[in-house]
Order: sequence, then C-alpha cells, then structure tokens
Amino acid sequence: MTKTIANWISGAHADSSSGQQLPVYNPATGAVTGQVQLANHADVDAAVAAAKAAFPAWSNLPPLRRSRALNKFLALLNEHRDDLARLITAEHGKVFTDAQGEVTRGIEIVEFACGAPQLLKTDFTDQVSTNIDNWTLRQPLGVVAGVTPFNFPVMVPMWMFPVALATGNTFVLKPSPIDPSASLFIAELLKQAGLPDGVFNVVQGDKGAVNALLEHPDVQAISFVGSTPIANYIYETGARHGKRVQALGGAKNHLVVMPDADIDQVVDALIGAAYGSAGERCMAISVAVFVGDDTAEKVIPKLIERTKTLKVLNGTNLDAEMGPIVTRAAHDRITGYIEQGVKEGAKLLVDGRGFNGEVAGEGCGDGFWLGGTLFDDVTPDMRIYKEEIFGPVLACIRVKDFAEAVQLINDHEFGNGVSLYTRDGHIAREFGRRIQVGMVGINVPIPVPMAWHGFGGWKKSLFGDMHAYGEEGVRFYTKQKSIMQRWPQAIAKGAEFAMPTSQ
Ligand code: NAD
Repeated sequence: MTKTIANWISGAHADSSSGQQLPVYNPATGAVTGQVQLANHADVDAAVAAAKAAFPAWSNLPPLRRSRALNKFLALLNEHRDDLARLITAEHGKVFTDAQGEVTRGIEIVEFACGAPQLLKTDFTDQVSTNIDNWTLRQPLGVVAGVTPFNFPVMVPMWMFPVALATGNTFVLKPSPIDPSASLFIAELLKQAGLPDGVFNVVQGDKGAVNALLEHPDVQAISFVGSTPIANYIYETGARHGKRVQALGGAKNHLVVMPDADIDQVVDALIGAAYGSAGERCMAISVAVFVGDDTAEKVIPKLIERTKTLKVLNGTNLDAEMGPIVTRAAHDRITGYIEQGVKEGAKLLVDGRGFNGEVAGEGCGDGFWLGGTLFDDVTPDMRIYKEEIFGPVLACIRVKDFAEAVQLINDHEFGNGVSLYTRDGHIAREFGRRIQVGMVGINVPIPVPMAWHGFGGWKKSLFGDMHAYGEEGVRFYTKQKSIMQRWPQAIAKGAEFAMPTSQ
C-alpha cells in the first residue's frame, strides 16, 4: 500500500484539485512508496488565502507568545527527531545518522527563532531634535513562501519558516516533490504545538505550484534554495512581480591542501565531505586542490584506498557511510558526468559505476546505487570541473602555489563554500580575506554557519542581498519603519518651510 501525500491548508490535509500526482520512491530499493499530489493555481490560492486570513492575529501577537508556540514545537521536534530522520532516509536515501544530523541543524534554527523578542528589539534615539524622538520598528511582511530542494527536506525549510513565523509572518512551504513527507510531519507538529490554523501551510508539487506562488499578488516574499538556473529564474520572476527574493543556488566547493597540512586529517575531511550524503549537499566538497605535486602524491593513494572501501549501504543500516543516489534521473546524470570526465581526459582512479546495489542490503538490487568516484588530473576547462555534478564524485586538481589556488577558486562561477587545510595562521588569514566565496572553513571541511550567523554563498550561488537565517534572515522577513514623534505641548506655532534640521 502506498501513501498519498497531500497539501496542508488551514491546519488540515487538503487534497489537490489538479488530480495530478507523482510517484515517491525509496531510493535504496527503487520501490514506489507514495504518490505526491501536485498543487495547481486553485490550491495555491487556497493556501495563500488561509495564510492571509491568519496574518492579522498572528502578527499582532506579542513576540513572546509566538516564541512560546515555537518553544512547544521545539520540544516536539526533539521528541520526534528520529521519526523525522527515518522519513528523510526513506525518501532521500541519506544514511540515518546523517539524517539525524540534518534534523539537529534544523532544530538549531528553531532555537534561534525562539529568541524572537530579542531578535525584534530595535533602536531608539532620545531627543534627535528638541522634544523629538526617533525609533525603528521591524514589522513582518505578510504572507511569505519558501521553495525548497530535495537534499535537505527538513533542515532547509527550517532555514526559513521558524524565522518567518517568529517575526510575525505567515508561511506557505513548497517542498521538493522527491521527498515530500517530512513537510506534512512538520505541519502536524506545528499544529500540536498550538500554532493557529493558516499560519503554516504546505503546497506540494513542482513548477506549476512555484509559478502560482511567484505570480500571486498576496505573496510578499519568496525564499528559494535549489539549483542555480532555477534560483536565477525565481529571482528574476519574483522581482518582476514585486516580491522580495532570496534565492540560493548551486555550488562547486573546493578544499585546498597546503603542503604543511596534516595528511590524515585531510584524507578524513575529503572522504567525509565528498561522499557524505552521496555528495548531494550544497556544501559537499567536489574539488580537492593540491598545492604542489608532492602534496597530491601523499594524499591521493590514501584517497583511492578509502574511496574503494567506503561502506555504501542502505541508509537504514547504522554502519552505512553513504546511501543511494536520490533518483534514477540523478543517478544517470552523475554517471553521464563520469563518462564525460573520461572523454575529457581526466584520470579515473576509482569508478563508482561498478558498484552493485545487491551488496547494499536486502532488496537493494533495484535501487539507485553508485559507488564513490575519484578523478585525478582534472583541469579547469573540463565540464566535470566547471559544472555542479551533485553526486559522489571528487575531482583532484593540482596547482603550483597558494596564489594559483586562490585564483582558481576566485575564477569559478560558484562561490558557496570553500575549505583550506594548513597549519600556517598567516596563510589561513590571507585565504579568508582574499577568497571570493561566501562560507569559508579553515581546517573545517563543511563550514555551514550556525543558526545565528546566517547561510549564503557568493556569485552564482546566491541571487539576492540577504543570507538565510541568522540576523539577515530576520531582516529578510521584516521591513524597517522609522517613527519620529513629538507631543503637542512641544510644538512651536507657525509653519516651517525649510528642511527640518536639529540646528
Ligand atoms: P531544483 O532546483 O531542481 O529544485 C528546487 C525546488 O525548485 C524544488 O522545490 C522544485 O520543485 C522547484 N523547481 C524545480 N524546477 C522548477 C522550475 N522549472 N520552476 C520552478 N520551480 C522549480 O533543486 P534540487 O535538485 O531539488 O536540489 C539540488 C540543488 O539545490 C543543487 O543544485 C544544490 O546545490 C542546491 N542547493 C543549494 C543550497 C544552498 O544553500 N545554496 C542548499 C541546498 C541545495
């Protein structure tokens, strides 16, 4: 029996009126486990109308009361952390411990958003002019929407809605149709936490639902996370419809290995960051940059060994280091890139295409399996270097010195994350200052910023001005108002025609 995954509107499941649906798979077995309904314009209208109706009361609540609801949600999330992780593994395929980590990183944003009263505190200046005070308010935008990718079905929505709700907005989430079940579980938990109906809604589907949100006059802002071409489209279309937009896109993240780095630490970092979550993380490391041939020669033999012995297993197996690829289409795209790399002249050191799903666990023969893949002698003109593969493929590239490494990365069109391994503090400092990338790790392979720091790349990895969550998230979901005030007793008689000053 497969389940049906519907929309969530006004605090209840709501079937889509389109009559259309898509299959949902377990990537480990290739079995269809559900059908996700696709929302059309009418469904999106209903969700936005519910959010609009809920906005006046929700936005007028004292922030402390909104944060109390989020605190209850936080307690429920902690209670159901493993249930959510199991849902992620069942539809995304990532290993269970990684899914638990994803839920934890999402929970951290809820913890941050629970501080709404403090986050919404603003500035006040007494006596900006005689008997006049000036202060700032940050007010919610209204109905805001989030469109999210398959690769973090819990964490990425939580980059958005906890901050949006805490600051007084109401929300419509459009999750990925590939792993949609977590969105409904989250909706149920929010309801149990006492969130008023209509404050959080979910519309399922794909392009059609997204376009309906982009064009809807009552949607004030869109947060998007996904691939670069769609991020660009969302940014341009949303802006054309007068919306505030933050659209986070794809990535090609480098890890630079300096000659003085600890080799074993580098190998651990590369293996975990390239093959964790089957490389389907926007912060995955997909390029290892070796400064000097000697450095490469010390690391690559160890990488070959570790890539060949990765424990590629059904994500439900607690020994698994890497699970399956999310869909058959993604699997075929990645194997296409491996062929492309060979054609372009890169040296294929480990070929994941030979991996047989049968060994991943019982029933895994028809799953979307691929082993870890390692290329050496990759050059900047190759497609496998320039384009985002989004799979377990690590490209090794060699440069002569630190300056060449920095130049290589700065010339790349993506600028999401980057990492440097070194023991030299001055080099690390220079790297942090010179690199044209939004999130930098020094001896940290996946530098995803904590909840109160904000997440965002540079260049084609982010369209818009503000990063997700943290203080930038609060700014994104609120608009600033300045209020200047004096009282009748203090107003002198007579009209003033000159520009007011404090002289
Ligand atoms: P995707 O761009 O295919 O889909 C993202 C969302 O957009 C989904 O909800 C999808 O239904 C919707 N969508 C797809 N095609 C659309 C269209 N033509 N018009 C309107 N909406 C459309 O991305 P994905 O495959 O789900 O996720 C992987 C991508 O996301 C990778 O490129 C990865 O780097 C990126 N990503 C980026 C970040 C970041 O923070 N920068 C984080 C996670 C994932």
